[in-house]
Amino acid sequence: MLIFKPPIEDTKYLIDEFLDTSELSNIGVFKNMTPDLTDAIFEEAGKISESLLFPLNRSGDEHGCTLDSGNVTTADGFKEAYQEITQAGWGNLTCHEQYGGQGLPHYIANAVDEMMVSGNMSFSIYFGLTIGAYNVIERFASDDIKEQYLPNMVSGKWSGTMCLTEPHCGTDLGLIRSKASPQDDGSYNINGSKIFISAGEHDLTENILHLVLARTPDAPKGIKGISLFLVPKINVSKNGELGKHNNVTCSGIEHKMGIKASSTCAMEFDNSNGVLVGELNKGMKAMFIMMNSARIHVGIQGLAVAHTSYCAAVDYAKQRLQGRALTGAKNPGKPADSLIVHPDVRRMLMTMKAYTEGARALSTWLSFKLDVSHHSPDLIKKQQADQLVSLLTPVFKSFLTDMGETVTSLGMQIYGGHGYIRENGMEQYLRDVRICQIYEGTNGIQALDLVGRKLPAHMGKSLRYFFHPLSTFLEQHADDEQLSVYINPLSKSFFRLQSATLFIAQRSLSNPDEAGAAASDYLKLFGFVAMGYMWAQMAEKSIYHKANMSDEFYDAKLKTGLFYMQRLLPQTGSLLSSIMSGCGNTMSLAETQF
Ligand SMILES: Cc1cc2nc3c(=O)[nH]c(=O)nc-3n(C[C@H](O)[C@H](O)[C@H](O)COP(=O)(O)OP(=O)(O)OC[C@H]3O[C@@H](n4cnc5c(N)ncnc54)[C@H](O)[C@@H]3O)c2cc1C
Repeated sequence: MLIFKPPIEDTKYLIDEFLDTSELSNIGVFKNMTPDLTDAIFEEAGKISESLLFPLNRSGDEHGCTLDSGNVTTADGFKEAYQEITQAGWGNLTCHEQYGGQGLPHYIANAVDEMMVSGNMSFSIYFGLTIGAYNVIERFASDDIKEQYLPNMVSGKWSGTMCLTEPHCGTDLGLIRSKASPQDDGSYNINGSKIFISAGEHDLTENILHLVLARTPDAPKGIKGISLFLVPKINVSKNGELGKHNNVTCSGIEHKMGIKASSTCAMEFDNSNGVLVGELNKGMKAMFIMMNSARIHVGIQGLAVAHTSYCAAVDYAKQRLQGRALTGAKNPGKPADSLIVHPDVRRMLMTMKAYTEGARALSTWLSFKLDVSHHSPDLIKKQQADQLVSLLTPVFKSFLTDMGETVTSLGMQIYGGHGYIRENGMEQYLRDVRICQIYEGTNGIQALDLVGRKLPAHMGKSLRYFFHPLSTFLEQHADDEQLSVYINPLSKSFFRLQSATLFIAQRSLSNPDEAGAAASDYLKLFGFVAMGYMWAQMAEKSIYHKANMSDEFYDAKLKTGLFYMQRLLPQTGSLLSSIMSGCGNTMSLAETQF
């Protein structure tokens, strides 16, 4: 049986000791975020994740969703779990109180999100899409539309989707063909086919609100002619009552490698009535808001599934008896020692632990920056945090999802052949997490976004909002002997990141392929440094600011942090070499030579 424990202790540590929330702690809801309250939230979220969601994870994978006459039935137990979770308010933590939400900070909600996804990634997708759609409507729709739709989304009665992809276009949304024809009453008739729509159809809610990208008849070509429409599955009257079916149908569900209990639908819109959200032809601007929050959510998916795999791998490595320790039997009374005595198994477990805890710290830190960007009373700090979050979103999404794949693959490896066998469950984590590198903009596209848009944005200032605090931290601790084993490797890697940044900025001026070929390695280098910054801060706190955790906990942080600095962070050296080799080696073959 697979062992799973939500990361309650580490989460409490990160929120109560690692994170400095003083910047906002006297403001609104932040005033109430005492350790007593937040610890209670995490304990409760952990219970739901462990005892309600995790038991449905395996059966959801086995049975998936079924489609019958356009209706999708979710896996057994999903409907009841959905009711229980929405009634307890877990689906609307960050939504405004005005619409029935709880208005909690992101640094709390995202930690809860991690626990929910760890328990059952497929299940959590139904909530993730609704929150993404809520964010767009709340930010861009008229007050009337908000009043009409948001309360039922927040209560969980209705859910949301994001309908971008069409059969001929995924990354290049400028190719979208779905049409929106204006009607006399100011609404639009939507026609078109969308594919791969997560939660496009299911039986968890009584209505589904689709956010659909489409173009009006006179719209400019390409990305500048795309608008965003809210198209309900069932029409809704002004006072929120359900009317007739809106000719939105699910024509198929995909048979996928993983997240089998999440319905991924082909959707047909046939003269379906929709309302414009935001300005005409500015649909992509609105969609980016949704995509940014969704990208952070996807990064958290990478972390969450990595954690689930880690829990099982640790348990297995302690239970399974194979071979003897190289230094002599550790368990002479038994026929063999447990796997955990072997250095190579330790290497895998330490890698899993270092990446997962580093990613959790990064998630906590970035989520708080998101809160600052929304709530800081200091407009300059608010703007700086906004630019920092925007810069780091592609790094977070890609680095944590690549890490998710690495960690779940190691988890499977620790199980040996048994990891490859379906009924043992470890391969599900690898299958589930693999999509995270593809959807919400592939990781390659995130890298191009980082290099092509985020670095040059605001005349390169965004970068300073990351580089400056990091170099200040390094300078402050430059002479600290106890911390030197963390500070020195991080300084070295930071220098590599700065060198790579300069190299790309200079080279891409004369040849844009230089930036394109370097982008993925650069993003990885950035991710390693960002995670290194988190580990160095955790080390500093574990030496000088011990508070509520056991000595064993701080000792483990220091040792895991050291593993990260000495065994994982040095990869920045080879990444820099790859980047500096330029684009010639990548681009020199003629197409016919492939
Ligand atoms: C399970 C699942 C759920 C999904 N959920 C949703 C959803 O809810 N809503 C929705 O709208 N979509 C959804 N998608 C679609 C998903 O977002 C797209 O599959 C993804 O954006 C990639 O698009 P594509 O598949 O068309 O690949 P393509 O765009 O054809 O890309 C193929 C490859 O080429 C690379 N590439 C493409 N263009 C460039 C470029 N300019 N430069 C460099 N490399 C490039 C890509 O990185 C990728 O590796 C989902 C997909 C899946 C599989």
